[in-house]
Amino acid sequence: MLNEYVKKIVGKEIDGCGDRELYAALLQMTNEMAAAKKKNTGKKKLYYISAEFLIGKLLSNNLINLGIYDEIKEELKKAGKKLSRLEELEPEPSLGNGGLGRLAACFLDSIATLGLPGDGIGLNYHFGLFKQVFHKNLQKEQPNPWLEEPGWLLRSEKKYKVSFGKFSVDSTLYEILVTGYNNRTNTLHLFDIDTLKEDIVKKGIDFDKEDIRKNLTLFLYPDDSDDAGRLLRVYQQYFMVSCGAQLILDEAVERGSDLHDLADYVAIQINDTHPSMVIPELIRLLTARGIDMDEAIEITKQTCAYTNHTILSEALEKWPLTFIERVAPQLVPIIRELDLCVKDQYDDESVYIIDDEERVHMAHMDIHYGHSVNGVAYLHTEILKNNELNHFYKIYPEKFNNKTNGITFRRWLLHCNKPLAAFLEKTIGNGFKKDAEELEKLLHYSEDEKVLQKLLDIKKKNKHKLVKYLKETQGLKINEDSIFDIQIKRLHEYKRQQLNALYAVHKYLEIKRGKTPKTPITLIFGAKAAPAYTIAKDIIHLILCLQKIVNKDKKVKPYLNIVMVENYNVTLAEKLIPACDISEQISLASKEASGTGNMKFMLNGAVTLGTEDGANVEIHQLVGDDNIYVFGEDSDTVIARYERGDYCSRDYYKKDADLKEAVDFIVSKKMLKTGRKKCLTRLYNELLNKDWFMTFPDFQEYVQTKELAYHDYDDRKSWARKMLVNIAKAGFFSSDRTIAQYNKDIWKLDQ
Ligand SMILES: *Cc1c(COP(=O)(O)O)cnc(C)c1O
Repeated sequence: MLNEYVKKIVGKEIDGCGDRELYAALLQMTNEMAAAKKKNTGKKKLYYISAEFLIGKLLSNNLINLGIYDEIKEELKKAGKKLSRLEELEPEPSLGNGGLGRLAACFLDSIATLGLPGDGIGLNYHFGLFKQVFHKNLQKEQPNPWLEEPGWLLRSEKKYKVSFGKFSVDSTLYEILVTGYNNRTNTLHLFDIDTLKEDIVKKGIDFDKEDIRKNLTLFLYPDDSDDAGRLLRVYQQYFMVSCGAQLILDEAVERGSDLHDLADYVAIQINDTHPSMVIPELIRLLTARGIDMDEAIEITKQTCAYTNHTILSEALEKWPLTFIERVAPQLVPIIRELDLCVKDQYDDESVYIIDDEERVHMAHMDIHYGHSVNGVAYLHTEILKNNELNHFYKIYPEKFNNKTNGITFRRWLLHCNKPLAAFLEKTIGNGFKKDAEELEKLLHYSEDEKVLQKLLDIKKKNKHKLVKYLKETQGLKINEDSIFDIQIKRLHEYKRQQLNALYAVHKYLEIKRGKTPKTPITLIFGAKAAPAYTIAKDIIHLILCLQKIVNKDKKVKPYLNIVMVENYNVTLAEKLIPACDISEQISLASKEASGTGNMKFMLNGAVTLGTEDGANVEIHQLVGDDNIYVFGEDSDTVIARYERGDYCSRDYYKKDADLKEAVDFIVSKKMLKTGRKKCLTRLYNELLNKDWFMTFPDFQEYVQTKELAYHDYDDRKSWARKMLVNIAKAGFFSSDRTIAQYNKDIWKLDQ
C-alpha cells in the first residue's frame, strides 16, 4: 500500500527513499486516509474548548487508529526500513502542559472513536510550553519550536476578525485531523495569527510582552508573574473564544440552525476556566445577530457546560475587570449584566461574579451561566459539592455531576506497550480494544503461572528498552535489574515530589550506615516546574543534587539510583510508563482532582503507591487492599486541618528523628558543596516553617509503606498477581467510558 503511494508522490520505491522522504510520504498518506473517512454529520455537535491539547506525536497513533500499523511496519521492514526510526523524526507538538491538556487529547481520540460529532478548539502556540534543560543542577527554560514542514497542520481558508478594544487582528485557522479507532475522523481547530514574530524571543524564553500582534500565540501560559504577562493571557483567551464562537455559530447556521434553536445544534464544553469568556462572547454575538439579551443568555446557558479541574484557589482564575476592559471592552457590559442578575437573586457574596475588588471570577460565571458543572473524579466532585463550591451546590444541585477522568487505551496501551497488548490479545482475545471492560477476563488467569511469568518477562523487557533509550538520549545510567519506582508529573508542591525526595535522602543515609536493601532501587523523576514557581524549581534542584551525590557514592550506588529525566513530555511518558514497577501518586489528600498518570501506570501493570486522593480512591476500590499501597492522612483530616489553620511542620520535625535527619541533610555540607546555598536554604526554610502541603505528617507512613512495597516486590509471583489485577481492573479508566458518560448526561449527541 505504502509503496504504491511512495512511487506516486516521490517517484521512487520505498527502498530507494531516505527516512525523511518516507516520513513525509507516510504523513501525507495518513492525512489523506483520515480525510477520506466519513464525518458524522449529526445535527448536534460538540465543541471542546481548551487552552491545551497535549496530543503527543501522531504518526503511530494515526496508523493504529486507521488500522494499518502492522501492514505499514511490515512493508517498511521488507524494504529494509524501520518504522520506529521514522517515528523518532516526528517532533512532539507542544500544545499542552500537563494532565488537563493530555485529558483533552484523550477525549478527542475517544469522541472520534465513539463516532460522535465533536471537534476541539484551541490555539496554535509556536513555541508551546518551554523545553526544559538542566544546567548546573537547575532547570533552564528554552523555546520549544515544533512547527515544521511537512507536519500535521492543515491551513484552512477560514478567517475571523477579533477586535481588542484599540486594534483588531485577523485569525488564521489550522486544523489537525483526529482519527478515531476504526471509525470516523474529527477535527482539532487551532487558531493563530499571521503577524506573529518568532524572532522577538530573546534569551531563554524572554520576549516583549507588549506587542500583541507579534507575540499572541508564541507561548502557552506566558509568565504571569507581572501584569504584562497576565494581560497577554487574557488576550490569548479572548482570541481563542472569539474565534471559536464565530466558528461555532457559522457551522451551526450551515447545519440549519436559526440560532434561536442553537442548543439543539451545539454543545460547548469549557475545559477549566481558560475558555470562560466564551459565555459573554456567545451572548454578544447572538445579540449582534438580532437575538434579544434575555434569550441570548438562555441559549448560552443551555449550550455551555463547565469542567472544574482543581480546588487550588490560586488556579481558579480571577481577572481584574480593568484587564477585560483593555482586551475586550465589548464584553464588559455583558459581564456586568450577568453579575447584576446574580446579585439581584442572591445575597451571598461568595457566589458573585464580580467581587468588591472588581475582579471577575471566571468559574462563577461558568457555574451560573452553564447548565452543567462537573468534577473529574468521585472524591473531587464530592469536595466541590460539600466544600469548595458548596454555596453553588446549594443553589444548583441539579447542575453538579461527576465524570471520572480516563485515558485512551490506543495510545497508552496499544501504542506504548505493544508486547503487553499482543500478549493480552493472545490470552483474552481482542475485544478489549473496543470494550475496555473486557480486560477483566484476565482475572481468570490470576493463578496461571505461565501468564504471571509472561507479565514479569514483558516488564523486564520494557525496563531494558527504557534503560537503553535513556542512556542513548540523555546519557543516564540505570541498573535495569532494580525496582523502577517512578514519579512523573508536573512539579507542584501539592504533588509532593519533595516527600519522595526526603525518602531518597533517608534511604541514602540508611544505606551509608550499612542497611542495604535486598533488591536495588531506582527512583525516577520527571517534571517541569513553571518558570516563575521558585520553590518548585528548588525541589528540582534538590533532586538533581541528590542524583549527583548518590550516584557518585560508590558504596551506595549499587543499591540506590536517583535519576531525573530531562524535559518530561508525552514521548517520554510513553517509554517510562510501560517500564514502571511502582507508580508514585502521593499528592496531599484532597488536592489532586483526579490524576490520569495513575491510570496509565495501572494499565501497564505498575502497582500504585499513593494517598487516598483523586482517582486513586477509585483505583483502590477496584483493585482491593492487596493490590495497591495506600498511606497518609485522608482528605477529611486534611480539610479539617486547613480549616483550623493550626498546622505546624516544626512540631513533626522535632518529634521524628528520621525526618529531622532527612530535612537537615538538605542544608548539610555535602549538599551545599554540590548545590546552591540560596536554593537549598530557601527550600529547607519553606519546609520547616510552612510545608503548606503537609509532607511531614505523612513522612513516617510513607517510608513504611514504601518499604513494604519493596519487600513484597521480591515475591515475584505474588507481585505479578498484583500487576495482573491492576491491568484487569483498568478498563473503567478508558476515556471511551468517560466520553460515553459526558455524552449521555451532558452533550446528548447522536452516534
Ligand atoms: C498523563 C500525563 C500527565 C498527567 O500526569 P498526572 O500524574 O496525572 O499529573 C502529565 N504530563 C504528561 C506528559 C502526561 O502524559
